[in-house]
Amino acid sequence: MRQTHYLSPTLRDVPADAEVTNHQLMLRAGLIRQTASGVYSFLPLGLRALKKVENIVREEMDMAGAQEVLMPAIQPAELWHESGRWEAYGPELMRFNDRHNREFALGPTHEEVITTLVRDDVKSYKKLPMTLYQIQTKFRDERRPRFGVLRSREFIMKDAYSFDTTQQGLDVSYDKMYEAYTNVFNRCGLDFRAVVADSGAMGGKDTHEFMVLSGIGEDTIAYSSESNYAANIEIAPVVANYSKSTEEVLSLEKFSTPDLKTIDELEDSLGINKEALIKAVLFIVDEKPVLALVRGDHDVNDVKIKHYYEASIVELASREQTLQYMKCEPGFIGPIDISEEVDVVADVAIQYVVNAVSGANEKDYHYRNVNPERDFKVKEYIDLRFIKEGDLSPDGQGVIKFAEGIEVGHVFKLGTRYSESMGAIFLDENGKTQPMIMGCYGIGVTRTVAAVIEQHNDEKGIVWPRAVAPFDLHLIAVNMKDTEQKDLSEQLYKQLMKDGYSVLFDDRAERPGVKFADADLIGLPLRITVGKKANEGIVELKIRKTGEVVEVQLEQLSSELT
Ligand code: ATP
Ligand code: MG
Ligand code: MG
Ligand code: MG
Repeated sequence: MRQTHYLSPTLRDVPADAEVTNHQLMLRAGLIRQTASGVYSFLPLGLRALKKVENIVREEMDMAGAQEVLMPAIQPAELWHESGRWEAYGPELMRFNDRHNREFALGPTHEEVITTLVRDDVKSYKKLPMTLYQIQTKFRDERRPRFGVLRSREFIMKDAYSFDTTQQGLDVSYDKMYEAYTNVFNRCGLDFRAVVADSGAMGGKDTHEFMVLSGIGEDTIAYSSESNYAANIEIAPVVANYSKSTEEVLSLEKFSTPDLKTIDELEDSLGINKEALIKAVLFIVDEKPVLALVRGDHDVNDVKIKHYYEASIVELASREQTLQYMKCEPGFIGPIDISEEVDVVADVAIQYVVNAVSGANEKDYHYRNVNPERDFKVKEYIDLRFIKEGDLSPDGQGVIKFAEGIEVGHVFKLGTRYSESMGAIFLDENGKTQPMIMGCYGIGVTRTVAAVIEQHNDEKGIVWPRAVAPFDLHLIAVNMKDTEQKDLSEQLYKQLMKDGYSVLFDDRAERPGVKFADADLIGLPLRITVGKKANEGIVELKIRKTGEVVEVQLEQLSSELT
């Protein structure tokens, strides 16, 4: 591509409203322009990088056996009523009415649409499993769009959805996507971690986020210094294996649950500082939650303790809810609604800080002197917000460290949340109807481009990894008025493209300093400069990443490039 007529408007100065590096560089290198708040146009260079990422994603999806489809951005409200999300989704959902006053939304995600597609056309187990994906524009009216295309209101996502007949089948589909995501982000040259994530109200701990490590990341990751353990600190559940059977637990020494007191009363009577709370761990006996331990230190007023139930995670956010929870029978499974005040849990929690107490059932039905190390095997701790850097990692290997991360991908085991509410059922081998078991998997394609730039840059500009660079080579003619330079660069331009390289050819009548500065800013991996030594058949090759410059004889050029 010749630069003279190319729409690649570079900026020398840092735009005032761009706070972070990737946003600044995407504007300065002429990759994007803002059209409205959180709404961007991609200029040619930006689009080429975006397409590179899209193609990597597409190749890995196809390789994993996923089938590409394209669904509409416009989605009728009825589908969202069916799933129950029209109300639940809130103001991030961009809604509008058509001329007949029918309600629609601009899709922020496509569970509803894909579920109806598959529901209508897949009826038998013989067609399953099946994973479908698309690369398409999504709309979310973000409360705070920022950092350029990192958090925008219109963005491109790759979203995939798997449909299986069994839970084990879902596990296989999920693992394939997990692996494909790992490949995608490796190929994009990103330094990332897959972290255990918070599955919200949808249950299970089977969700991972792919986090690009970066100081501007909006999520905090707790990871082990020694092992692969990594989790979003938002993560709620403690998933612990209780090493005793239910019978053994029930035969432990019982003690009388003290009457519940207010925090202030407790402070007085027990001399416990209410600030000296709270670390909660919920243990699970025979896969059922039966025990909450509370200890540690945290500002009570900030505390929201989340508890893990078999299929859903709930936040115990009011005293009533906490009491309700504490009175439930062993093996009780949620649901408890989330709401209201917070300092709550502290009331109940503080009473158990004295002893490790098991029970979570009727009054007078708790067990004293339960020893976490002896009686419980902790796999993960609840609510990593209460974990401090330097604490022992929950997997017992190494200590906890924190890092900021940018969520570029998210894989999620949905189960039957949508297939049940929207009737996506199939006939199994015995002719019985069953709901399909689903997973969903998203990659922020535009965000990934931004994340790449955030990790690959220096003071002069972008330093593209080869796989996502808009062009392979930047060919620069230092002086287009010099016939020898002009002829050689024109000849090289054609030859390099013939050899299969994508080439940006700076054939502009600009000063060399401008050309070099733009080349550094745009950041293509290799620069070939045709200058004074053109008459000797010598060009200069510069590696953007290292700054290394070598003079190369034309005959050697193709071998130098490989
Ligand atoms: P976030 O926590 O950043 O708001 P999310 O958890 O809401 O993201 P998902 O619903 O998991 O996002 O969507 C899948 C992927 O889409 C995310 O992992 C992210 O890469 C991308 N994405 C989500 N919201 C945006 C946005 N506003 N702008 C750009 N990309 C986004
Ligand atoms: Mg979001
Ligand atoms: Mg998120
Ligand atoms: Mg997410």
